[in-house]
Amino acid sequence: MKRLAILGSTGSIGVSTLGIVAEHADRFQVVALTAGRNLALLEEQIARFQPQVVAVPDRENAQRLMERLGHSGPRVLYGTEGLITCAANSPADMVVSAIVGAAGLEPTLAAVQAGRDVALANKETLVIAGELVMAAVAESGCRLFPVDSEHSAIFQSLAGHSKDDVRRLILTASGGPFRNWSLDDLQEVTPQDALAHPNWTMGRKITIDSATMMNKGLEVIEAHWLFNLPVDRIAVHIHPESIVHSLVEYVDGALIAQLGIPDMKTPIAYALSYPERLTLDLPPLDLCRLGQLHFAAPDSLCFPCLGLAYEAIRRGGTTPAVLNAANELAVDAFLQEKVGFLDIPRIIGAVVEKHAITAATSLAAILAADNWARGAAQDVIHEIQGASYL
Ligand code: NDP
Repeated sequence: MKRLAILGSTGSIGVSTLGIVAEHADRFQVVALTAGRNLALLEEQIARFQPQVVAVPDRENAQRLMERLGHSGPRVLYGTEGLITCAANSPADMVVSAIVGAAGLEPTLAAVQAGRDVALANKETLVIAGELVMAAVAESGCRLFPVDSEHSAIFQSLAGHSKDDVRRLILTASGGPFRNWSLDDLQEVTPQDALAHPNWTMGRKITIDSATMMNKGLEVIEAHWLFNLPVDRIAVHIHPESIVHSLVEYVDGALIAQLGIPDMKTPIAYALSYPERLTLDLPPLDLCRLGQLHFAAPDSLCFPCLGLAYEAIRRGGTTPAVLNAANELAVDAFLQEKVGFLDIPRIIGAVVEKHAITAATSLAAILAADNWARGAAQDVIHEIQGASYL
């Protein structure tokens, strides 16, 4: 029986993870859950999976939850300390890191430092603090299993091969809903348009990141840290069908890939049960019916976020943390219709240009850069809003 702590249990990845746990109740036990604001769903999950401890970010919501659960419920904690306790001090064998955004960093790092195996969905953790987290993984001896479908595909395609034989990694990207749109068309994009992803059902932030292609940029940085390769050896191919989840190119020209229908259950289950594979209730991939698969180069003019991410990791230090924080604020402002779709890369680029880079080797330095970037991004957003009223 593997004991799981699921951070972000009320999100898209969290709910899929609990679906797998329910399908394989003989193999997994839930010992800790954390959520953000969706108390109603968390309450349902508590009733169903009976964790020993739960946490939410706000004290008021923790109080409300305790009142609703009464004395029979699990321990209810709050704040970053509460999330850290669930990640590092609950009796979990594995922590599923599925909080969205920079909020996932501290609990994930704490899990790693406590030697817990981590199924990593929260890509922001490695984007912001890759050097620090990978050093902590080496020190604690824990294992980091990728949940992102692209990184899971690479992880699977590397199995049985020597890293020395790898020429490059190729991450595939669906291209999102605006793959063939012109710059003029992109001026008019609304949040509703951007939230309609053609292939994947995901949380709101990652869906917007997919539409801008920042998601792929964050994944390039994540792959750099996970697989210890320079970003110049990590390429991105547009693949609209999202069937080939990513590839490894070897020095003899061989390409090894993992294919499957676009459903996150497959990579989540592989991270939970590695090296075994779980039987999943998913339709098979029918390649004959599919007929054709397509690949193309990304359009850097219409989707500059990908280039911004490559540039951030080349600049190094705290730059990726700043890129990530500026992106979080820009996406939020776009979702609130305060700025346009094409303002997202403008905001990020402006904040990154203003940043005085420092080494990203301590949590304090990373959190300070993150905090600075949020303030700087807010200023740029206000400037854009001010200009649009003139
Ligand atoms: P969702 O937005 O669906 O879920 C996010 C989860 O984090 C929810 O449980 C939410 O709580 C919780 N949360 C939000 N803010 C905070 C906070 N400040 N403190 C604590 N908890 C918080 O996101 P996804 O499930 O889509 O994505 C989660 C992570 O996985 C992201 O980093 C994403 O990039 C990555 N990922 C997602 C994929 C997908 O298919 N969805 C694929 C690959 C990677 P609540 O809802 O209760 O407010």
